[in-house]
Amino acid sequence: MKHIYLDYAATTPLHPQVLEAMLPYFSGEFGNPSSVHHYGQRADHAVELARETIAAQLGCQPHEIIFTSCGSESDNLALRGAAWAAREQRGANHILISPVEHHAVSQTAEQLAALFDFDLEYLPVDEYGRVNPAELAQRLRRDTAIVSVIHANNEIGTLNPVAEIGAICRQRGVAVHSDSVQGAAHLPIDVNTLNVDLLSLGAHKFYGPKGVGALYVRQGTRLHPSQTGGSQEFGLRAGTQNVPYIVGMAEAFKLTQDHLDAHKAHLSSLRDHLIGTILEEIPDVRLTGHPVERLPNHASFVFEGVDGNHLLMMLDVEGFACSSGSACKTGYPEPSSVLSALGLSHSWGLGSLRVTLGQHSTAEDVTAFLAVLPRLVEQSRKII
Ligand SMILES: *Cc1c(COP(=O)(O)O)cnc(C)c1O
Repeated sequence: MKHIYLDYAATTPLHPQVLEAMLPYFSGEFGNPSSVHHYGQRADHAVELARETIAAQLGCQPHEIIFTSCGSESDNLALRGAAWAAREQRGANHILISPVEHHAVSQTAEQLAALFDFDLEYLPVDEYGRVNPAELAQRLRRDTAIVSVIHANNEIGTLNPVAEIGAICRQRGVAVHSDSVQGAAHLPIDVNTLNVDLLSLGAHKFYGPKGVGALYVRQGTRLHPSQTGGSQEFGLRAGTQNVPYIVGMAEAFKLTQDHLDAHKAHLSSLRDHLIGTILEEIPDVRLTGHPVERLPNHASFVFEGVDGNHLLMMLDVEGFACSSGSACKTGYPEPSSVLSALGLSHSWGLGSLRVTLGQHSTAEDVTAFLAVLPRLVEQSRKII
């Protein structure tokens, strides 16, 4: 049976050119970048070259890039590091985030509230999961430590007006973070255009390896390390750098960012065909996320009276790999916090389906998917 991968928001396959770039650092080039000798210098050079490559793409200085072990770690460091530093520096106590953040942001903020007594506030979002910059401006306080608003949402594809949000925060002297782990695979990322102080990246969402990420930290942004030990990464992240993965991340980021326009044209035409056909041919379905301000590869839906996890399993049996936004934690399925934040009722929110396309997706893949989906949705509805 042919398997068709439609889950590029979960992860992407490694680009062959990225693997090629990584390979020497698994064998001959094995030095520790912190070592003084020749071996160390060669490894250090590779890490610094990768830092320069990523900085050039983001429009920042190399020393503003901190390598981490993943997108989640970047989010953790941004939130925890900025909150701790702002409290120490000026007694700031308030954390302001959107209700549609990735768990790496929201769970970190929840922990800062529970264990460190920060005052956590959620911004309102509209029915598409977008933050209104004016609403943010009203909620900023003198003691706000950090604001975090996701750039491109992983579950519903919606893009946030990060540049406007960033401008407001920076004018008020409040550090602003954006999780661009999804965005970086599809959108130009210039940290000055986006007006952010902190920005998270994760390599495996843009055809790089799993287990490596980066955090952009604008010069002057106060941050405490949350992983302490050696003085690697300018003292902001202790631990010997993962040299092959860092080299791979830089290669993947450059490849992706250099071909954004071509990929966008390919992906958005497939996506539009997918969305148009599903909305037309299947009854009681809604698009989730913004109809226009959304990732070019991202189609997400809710079907009324469908168990999203059941639909995923039926799709898998037919060879299609997709995703859903509902997690079955204790036997009682619950819509995800993102879908709940959109104001969807339980009977709609449980029937979510996310279809995300990538560089290897073809028109034939989409046609094959559209040929089976209506029948599977109908079958799924009979079971509930
Ligand atoms: C995947 C993802 C993360 C987590 O990245 P990892 O590298 O898998 O830890 C964070 N935020 C968003 C928006 C993501 O899509």
